[in-house]
Amino acid sequence: MSSNLRESCGVFGVVAPGEEVARITFYGLYALQHRGQESAGIASANDRRLYLRTGMGLVSQVFNEDDLSYLPGQMAIGHTRYSTTGYSEAANAQPCLVEAPAGKLALGHNGNIVNASVLREDLEEQGVEFSTGTDSEVIAQTLAQAPGESWQQRWAYLMRRLKGAYSLVALTPNELMAARDPMGNRPLCLGTLDGGWVVASETCAFDHLGATFVREIEPGEVVRITAKDGVESYQAAEPKKAFCIFEYIYFARLDSVLDDKLVYPVRMALGAQVAREHPVDADIVIGVPDSAIAAAIGFSQEADIPFVEGLVKNRYVGRTFIQPDQRLREVGVRLKFNPLPELLEGRRVAVVDDSIVRGTTNRPVVSMLRKAGAKEVHVRITSPPIISPCFFGIDMGSRWELIAGRMSVDEIREHIGADSLGYLSVEGLIEAVGLPKDKFCLACFTGEYPMPVPLQLDKLALETAGGRDRHEFEWMESVPSALRGP
Ligand code: AMP
Repeated sequence: MSSNLRESCGVFGVVAPGEEVARITFYGLYALQHRGQESAGIASANDRRLYLRTGMGLVSQVFNEDDLSYLPGQMAIGHTRYSTTGYSEAANAQPCLVEAPAGKLALGHNGNIVNASVLREDLEEQGVEFSTGTDSEVIAQTLAQAPGESWQQRWAYLMRRLKGAYSLVALTPNELMAARDPMGNRPLCLGTLDGGWVVASETCAFDHLGATFVREIEPGEVVRITAKDGVESYQAAEPKKAFCIFEYIYFARLDSVLDDKLVYPVRMALGAQVAREHPVDADIVIGVPDSAIAAAIGFSQEADIPFVEGLVKNRYVGRTFIQPDQRLREVGVRLKFNPLPELLEGRRVAVVDDSIVRGTTNRPVVSMLRKAGAKEVHVRITSPPIISPCFFGIDMGSRWELIAGRMSVDEIREHIGADSLGYLSVEGLIEAVGLPKDKFCLACFTGEYPMPVPLQLDKLALETAGGRDRHEFEWMESVPSALRGP
């Protein structure tokens, strides 16, 4: 278990009585492309069988007409995957398919399971064989092998055993199930489409399909959808809400609604808040495109400094982190942005970005702006410093990779070459989002996790040179009992 411990992905599902739904799933995934660009997959069901197609790359690269025609049936689930460093293999694409006493099951997962290694060991002891290195297969097997006569009992078992974040879509030959972990850490919502039903990581997928948003799937809830009976739902575990606030800051699309709040105005409010917390004397405001443009507009309005598009983004380069190693990441930044000297020449520039994770993006951006003639460069970040890794599905790397984990704000300012640097405060973040603090997981900014996490992994990794597998093995040996589950 080394390759897929952190994943931020998009999941989608549809049941439309009497219709062929592969194409709907394709377009649903298309709208969720920002959540994962590494691989994509669709599983469909026609009441008798499950069909599966997965592949590496963007949704449009993975599926052509032939592939879609191979996916018959009125029910389907889909997945876009975004894994971490280096392990990007076709075999790990999702949905994954397992066969178990309870029958065949296809499953797509967004999130990250903290105790996947332990669960996998337990299953292997029972003789279960694994064909991929993903925690999603561990989830699928844990569910499909779970004791119990009904799926309801198996889901309750799964939620007792799984520790971590998971928004799931699962498909049997005749029913679709969607579930959200008790923290509701990753988004998942339910909608209707022409007499059928859709589930998706984000509401933007509904908008593109002309579907109507009904509600979010609740933390700890399982929704079962069949062509015959429509939607049934039950609570499989006690909710304890800890929604990932980074979805608002960076990950979700601007036009999605999370917990009744459209992301776009939240991002503007984040920009306005950082303008209040860290005012700057500047001639122009620019945003690092595309993710920080809304925040830069909010900053510009609050500070009363004109917003200009001083950086142009090549839209066909994926999110920087998609590159598997650090060297390629740095090249990626140069390929991604091009400054406009005519707008920047001789100006004092305030640059708004949503986050500094490893510090890979901001350093070349600042130097690019200076080379293009900016007189001063002031960086404003619409999140607090990221000091602790995410164990729940956002790829932020390990503790030692997080620049704010090892440098002070002034050292980071120096490292990126900015004239000044200002981060949003945690209180300012909460105020700008406008929801109660106790609804959120803020662990990447505070180090306070909503459940026990394998912090030891980082400690060992820092002390020992060599591969990660070894550290994970050592951690597995000494896994705290709290993570083992019942
Ligand atoms: P870094 O370059 O490592 O400091 O990362 C920060 C930049 O990457 C920012 O411009 C963000 O917009 C973007 N970013 C932040 N978090 C992620 C993530 N999980 N995956 C991909 N890009 C990210």
